[in-house]
Formats: sequence, structure tokens, C-alpha cells
Amino acid sequence: MRRIPIIGGNWKMHRGTPEDAKEMLEEFIQLVKDIENVEIVIVPPYTALSVVNVVKNTNIKIGAQNMYYEDKGAFTGEISPRFLKALGCEYVILGHSERRDIFKEDDDLINKKLKKALLMELNPIVCIGEHLEEREAGKTKDVIRTQIEGTFKDLTKEQMIKIVIAYEPIWAIGTGKTATPDQADEVHQYIRDLLNEKYDNETAELVRIQYGGSVKPTNALELFQKSNIDGGLVGGASLNADSFSEIIKAAENSN
Ligand code: PEP
Repeated sequence: MRRIPIIGGNWKMHRGTPEDAKEMLEEFIQLVKDIENVEIVIVPPYTALSVVNVVKNTNIKIGAQNMYYEDKGAFTGEISPRFLKALGCEYVILGHSERRDIFKEDDDLINKKLKKALLMELNPIVCIGEHLEEREAGKTKDVIRTQIEGTFKDLTKEQMIKIVIAYEPIWAIGTGKTATPDQADEVHQYIRDLLNEKYDNETAELVRIQYGGSVKPTNALELFQKSNIDGGLVGGASLNADSFSEIIKAAENSN
């Protein structure tokens, strides 16, 4: 089954003013304008989400880095999915390891957010992945199983196939260490096995699974050529128009 690769650029807490984001995007739009068959999503800080207007009528979509699961109310500092939707956001990242580790978000909270995002028709990119100690202790698969069971609890097949999973080994994020293509593909295959077990083979084949963790122009093609890897979630290398466009071209060439 053919899945369209998806590349997300997670800008984290960088390029947060509309001017700074616009400067990168104006250059980037030109570099990727002829790309077909790759979904491109830029995920800036909330304060630069107004760039939905800069990418209007291009092949680039905009996502948010997080959201809360309520529409409105006394939740100081949180952001409503309704606001994101009204602004023109199409995607939302949920359960990034920085949210899990620094801000103590657990599977239960991410599951609530995920159900709300699906209800609001915001396309979720849900991150899972193990710490270095867990990999070294041979616990990668146990961690992935627990995260999948908790984060995707009580979702129907119809909901599950709308989700993009980002497998991000935490030891590879922002460290310059990348999982080898074989290491990544093995976990992606395991995720598909779990989806097959929980749902069916069709679901396992339809769900797109991105790899994330120090993806660069130099390693992108060999990662994306793996049969279970459907693109990437990119942090550092997505901040620069040249390097991010090279990664997107690698996804196009991996088809
Ligand atoms: C990320 O932020 O999800 C990420 C993978 O970052 P980096 O590409 O910088 O490792």
C-alpha cells in the first residue's frame, strides 16, 4: 500500500515572530514549489501561526506544537483547538517528548487531547519514543507498546487512520545522533505489528509513521527509503530553508 510521505518542521521555541517566520518561508516556498506527493507541514510557535497567510495557495500546511483539550475557559497559558482551527491550522503535534519530559504530560492527558483534536478535525501528529536508558536496557518495544496502549486508548479504526505517528527515539532528538535506518525501520515495523494486533492489517498499512531525531539532508534519503518510514519530523534542520527543502526533496526521491 502506498502512503504519501509527510515531513513536519517543528520549530520549537525558535523563529517565533511573524517577521522571522515569514523571512524563512518566503525563501522556502520557492524552493519546494514544484514538490508533489510529499505533504509539507511547518509547525512554528503560536506567536507566528499567522504565517498561514504567507503559505496560502502553496503546497505548505501549518500546524501547532500543542493544544489543550477544552474549547475555552479558565486555563491560563493554554491554547484552544478551536482557536487553532479558526486561524487555519491543519495539524497539531501532540505528546512531543519535550512535552512529556519537561512539562510532565502523560499518556492519559495526550489521549484526551488527541480525541479532542480528532473531533475538531485537526490532524494529529503524535510522538512516541524511548529514552537512551530504556533502549540500552532492551526495553524499547515495551515502552512503545505502553505508549501506544495509553495514548491511543479507545480510538476507533476510523480515528486511528487519521493519525500520523512520529517515532522519535529521545536520545536522537537534537543530539546529532540518528537511529540507523535499520534501527528506525525495526521500531516502525513493530508499531505496525501493534496496530495490526489492536485493529487490523489495513489500519497497520494505512497509518503513516514518521521518523524523528536529528534528520539532516545527509541522512534523510536512506531513512526515507525504508519501507516502513513515511517521512520525518524535523527540528533543527527545519529552521533553514535550504536544509529543510533538501530533506523534502529526499522524501520525494524516496518514493
Ligand atoms: C524534534 O523536535 O521532534 C526533532 C526531531 O528535533 P531534531 O531534528 O533537532 O532532532
